[in-house]
Amino acid sequence: MARHRNAVCRLCRREGVKLFLKGLRCFTDKCAIERRNFVPGQHGQSRRAKLAGYGMQLREKQKAKRTYGLLERQFRNYFEKAERAKGPTGENLILMLERRLDSAVYRMGLASSRAQARQIVTHGHILVNGRKLNIPSYQLNVGDEVSIKSKMLQNAMVMEARNVAQGMNLAPWLEIDRDAGKAKVVALPKRENVQTPAINEQLIVELYSK
Ligand code: SF4
Repeated sequence: MARHRNAVCRLCRREGVKLFLKGLRCFTDKCAIERRNFVPGQHGQSRRAKLAGYGMQLREKQKAKRTYGLLERQFRNYFEKAERAKGPTGENLILMLERRLDSAVYRMGLASSRAQARQIVTHGHILVNGRKLNIPSYQLNVGDEVSIKSKMLQNAMVMEARNVAQGMNLAPWLEIDRDAGKAKVVALPKRENVQTPAINEQLIVELYSK
């Protein structure tokens, strides 16, 4: 699957906010946003102009797209599906992104970034309803049970992510059993359940509606 391959901290610096793309490093003072919060590039320090209109809409779309690790065409496809679904388009969009299997694995605390979660899924370490599922974009539904293969619970990367996630509950729509590394989807996510990073989805709708 196509994905962004360049230095991800540049993406946060471009957006001027932490997108939490690099796992545990994002919580330390090594985070590039803590050290160099200006636009990357030769003229970066003089480039953060006040945005309005199209500029704001574009940046909001890039922020959402980069947070979920998608390329332009993939993101646009989500938008088109969100438009066709019942309810507000922007809200549909965010909730569809959140219901992706890799996003849920990240919210379960089995990975310290969505990129890491995607790798765990594509490598076949995740089961949905007891069957291996290696499709990161799979849309979870109420009643689905997501689990990680038991041998992966001893994996150093997974153990580290689980330690950091202890005590956090970032996804109230998931009933998480942290010791067993599994979760059940008890409801569909609601917009207020998705707080990080703060995305103004209305600006994305305005951008694509031009
Ligand atoms: Fe890099 Fe994470 Fe900081 Fe973003 S939040 S700049 S990905 S360390």
